[in-house]
Amino acid sequence: FLPHLVASMEEVEQTYIMIKPDGVQRGLVGEIISRFERKGFKLTGLKLFQCPKELAEEHYKDLQSKPFFPKLIDYITSGPVVFCIFANLVNCIYFGKAWEGVGVVASARKLIGATNPLNAEPGTIRGDLAVQTGRNVVHGSDSPDNGKREIGLWFNEGELCAWAAALEPWLVE
Ligand code: GDP
Ligand code: MG
Repeated sequence: FLPHLVASMEEVEQTYIMIKPDGVQRGLVGEIISRFERKGFKLTGLKLFQCPKELAEEHYKDLQSKPFFPKLIDYITSGPVVFCIFANLVNCIYFGKAWEGVGVVASARKLIGATNPLNAEPGTIRGDLAVQTGRNVVHGSDSPDNGKREIGLWFNEGELCAWAAALEPWLVE
């Protein structure tokens, strides 16, 4: 482990991924996290948590005016959620500097698939594992700025873990 070669995670594009209560209840936590790991993204934060109403409302504040908002808050607070952060930073240990990968936010959204699981392509998480918008098993940030906002909302300082993955030279040139 080479801590001096791990860049500050603040410089790096990161996405906030949440496995919603239905994903936890259905035993899909490992399956869903595994899809991001297998893609080659790096896990930099992970928690299991019963979400209070206030946090769910803040997280989804852009949807406040939607008719389904109360149902959405009930859904998200109905049981524990598992949430994590993925980055695609590559610590180029051979060159002694960090290469800041971009695109993890948009790519994670592609892996997740369309909001309505019936429209989500097979091969995506929602396409393979869900049938209804109101039970679509997973959340992913929709922009790098929202990624930062959501990570700040759900994680406390000191809970993120920057680390150098030995596999990185085999994932990027
Ligand atoms: P996402 O970014 O693909 O998750 O979709 P949105 O940001 O538009 O909506 C956030 C979440 O609200 C979705 O993932 C669904 O869980 C829920 N949602 C969105 N639209 C509807 C709807 O029409 N009905 C219900 N019941 N839930 C919805
Ligand atoms: Mg959204």
